[in-house]
Amino acid sequence: MSAAPPAAAHAERRPRDTAEARTAAYLDSIRADPRLLRDFFLRLPKGGDLHNHLFGAVRTEYLIKLAGEDGLCIDTATLTAVVPPCGPGTRPAADARADRGFREAIVRAWSMQDFPPDQSGHDHFFATFDKFALVASLNQGKVLAEVADSVAVQHQFYLETMVNPASDGAERLGDEVGWDPDLAALHARLLAGGRLDRLVADARKETDAVDAEFRTAARCRTERPRPGCRLTARRIYQAFRGESPERVFTELALGMRLAERDSRFVAVNLVQPEDWDSSLRNYTLQMRMVRYLRTVYPRAYVTLHAGELRPGLVKPEDLRFHIAQAVDIAGAERIGHGVDLVHEDDWQRTAATMAARQIAVEVPFTSNAQILGVRGAEHPFDTYRAYGVPVVLATDDPGVSRIDISHEYQYAAETYGLSYPELKDLARASLQYAFLPGRSLWQGNPTRDGYRPAEVCAGQLPGAGRAPGAECRRLLATSPKATVQWRQEAAFASFENYFG
Ligand SMILES: [Zn+2]
Repeated sequence: MSAAPPAAAHAERRPRDTAEARTAAYLDSIRADPRLLRDFFLRLPKGGDLHNHLFGAVRTEYLIKLAGEDGLCIDTATLTAVVPPCGPGTRPAADARADRGFREAIVRAWSMQDFPPDQSGHDHFFATFDKFALVASLNQGKVLAEVADSVAVQHQFYLETMVNPASDGAERLGDEVGWDPDLAALHARLLAGGRLDRLVADARKETDAVDAEFRTAARCRTERPRPGCRLTARRIYQAFRGESPERVFTELALGMRLAERDSRFVAVNLVQPEDWDSSLRNYTLQMRMVRYLRTVYPRAYVTLHAGELRPGLVKPEDLRFHIAQAVDIAGAERIGHGVDLVHEDDWQRTAATMAARQIAVEVPFTSNAQILGVRGAEHPFDTYRAYGVPVVLATDDPGVSRIDISHEYQYAAETYGLSYPELKDLARASLQYAFLPGRSLWQGNPTRDGYRPAEVCAGQLPGAGRAPGAECRRLLATSPKATVQWRQEAAFASFENYFG
């Protein structure tokens, strides 16, 4: 294998050392071989998954198995999981074990399996969630164990997954308090009589139960722990943007209060289709809600699905401002999808603002292709990078999409001609822009200036042949973020040892 640096046309930085250069040359030598590429991308350290909906992340076959074990039924018309007993118009989910046709029909209904690739999957994709929601919600700890395994075996080190404990209670409370355009007054009504705090307590209790089930399922304290036990994970509270304003506000307040009081939660997000009538009607109002709540809960992070749109999906006037408002009004620290960027007014300014504030965009390629039909050169991936906006690859709903993060990295490399050093920086970005607390292992703005170790760890990274000194060890001991970043750098060293 040649030690010459790669000649990738889009390489923005040259390999730094010989192991990295040899790995880059190896990647260039196998670009025509799908089997070797898959192996390379499976083993590649891939940072963290920052955009992952827990229920949409789990494999469909596992959900079907759980439905059978729980004695649930399947509505034969809609293929929705429902509670027993299995009356007329339903069948026991357990039938799927022996009846292959039945099983495959459920798989197609609950995921994008066999969905024609040339058709818009928008409606089918979003309809899957209601069909399997009962199974996933009854088994959240087991589902988390399964998803954590799937992330860890992909050589990722960190997960931020989206969940919504106590959201039924939040909807009820929202309905009770009603709407008030004075957001401070509305928030005061939620707090009155300790009502919001009761929801926070409910959400924490529900999360305790999930974690207990997770520990049992993942066998974390046994001699045979499952791979998911070694994963660092945090939760993002997802509020449902299609709901009434009072419900959305209550869910956001609950999520942000939770993020300040329970270290398992770090942020809030707004989910559900951005192109629904109610989502469109209330978009700017929801951005103002987030802006107000940030003043009350300054320590809660915010990432927002914004610009998960394309021309034709919404009226032209609705295509012009979503990312901009998520950045300018809501003050989001990250943006999910951001697909409609170049269709927005003054988008160059939005991109420049994102670059200056290091607001990362979370990019799930397969989800964007399946839901929006946007892929390849139509996707703003290269545009974001050209403007210096941090980009992180993510899976969104890998169970529904039937992909894994390795597939997304490989797609990025093949579609945009990424070199090995660029892929490495993508993986580093997904930890750098994580909402995990602590100082970074890297200094300054690494998207602009490259990934240079923090002063105290300079020349001491794994693979450098020099053990970390006392100050570097102190950084690692006090920073959960740096610790995970260090694990990834150690993994890069052995990865390059293997392929380089
Ligand atoms: Zn999403």
